[in-house]
Amino acid sequence: MKLIDAHCHLQSSRLSENIDQTIKNANSAGVEYMVCCATCEQDWLDVQNLSLEHDFVIPCYGIHPWYMDNISFEWENKLADLLRTEKTRLKNNFLPGIGEAGLDFAIKVPNRPLQEKIFTDQLILAKELELPISIHIRKAWDLFINILKKIGDLPAQGLIHSYSGSADMIPIFEKYGFYISFSDSITRPNARKPIKALEIVSENRMLIETDSPDILPSMPLHQEKNAINKPENLVFIANIASQIKKIPVKEFVVKTYNNGVRLFNISGQ
Ligand SMILES: [Zn+2]
Repeated sequence: MKLIDAHCHLQSSRLSENIDQTIKNANSAGVEYMVCCATCEQDWLDVQNLSLEHDFVIPCYGIHPWYMDNISFEWENKLADLLRTEKTRLKNNFLPGIGEAGLDFAIKVPNRPLQEKIFTDQLILAKELELPISIHIRKAWDLFINILKKIGDLPAQGLIHSYSGSADMIPIFEKYGFYISFSDSITRPNARKPIKALEIVSENRMLIETDSPDILPSMPLHQEKNAINKPENLVFIANIASQIKKIPVKEFVVKTYNNGVRLFNISGQ
C-alpha cells in the first residue's frame, strides 16, 4: 500500500526529538509522501530543511489562523519569494503548497478582521503563483464561501484539511476544485458531520491525513498519556475511512493516493 499523508506538521517540536525514526516508521507503514505544513514565519525554515533532507516531504508555507500575533511587516513578500524559489527547486518532483492558512472562529478570542485579511492574501498568492493551498476552517464557513466568491477559482486548487463542515457544502467546494481531507476526527464521538461528508464526497476528491502531531487517533493503542499522533497512523485512518465509504481499503488507498498525486502534481507516478 502506498499512501500520502495530505496534511501534517513534521517540523513540530513535539516530533523533532525522534523525527528520523518517525519518518522511517511512516515509510515502513507505506506512507510514501508527507505534506508538511508550516504554521508561521518562524517554522518556514524548519519545513524547508525537512524537505531538503527527504525528497518525499512536500512543503507548504503559510500563516495559520492561530499564529498571527508575531507576523512581520513584510510577511507577504517573504512568503511569495520563498514559494517562487521552492517552486523552481522542486519543479521536477511536485508543487510546494501554501498553508496552513484559513479561518478559525472556534478559538477563544479570534481576531476576525485580521484572520480574514491574512487568509485572503494567501488565497490571492495561491492564485497568482498557481500553487495548491491547504486550508483550515472552523466555524467560519459562510465567510469562507463569501471570500471564495470574490476570489474565484484557484488554478492549482487546494484541500480543506480535517473537514468539519456540513455534507451540504461538499458540492460547493468540489465545484471550486477543492479536495476534502479527512483525519481521525471521523472516529471521534462528535464525528457525525465529517462522516456524512465522507459518505458523499466524490471519490476523485477525497484525501486522508493525520495532522500529526495533533488529532491523536482514538485507537486503544494510543490512549497513554502524552501520546502524540504520527504519520504511520494514516493506515488506521485509511481503514476506518474506507469502511465509512464502503470501498475495500486497498481501492480506497489507491484512490486517495492518486488524488494527492494530482493535487500536488507529483511526477513519475
Ligand atoms: Zn494542521
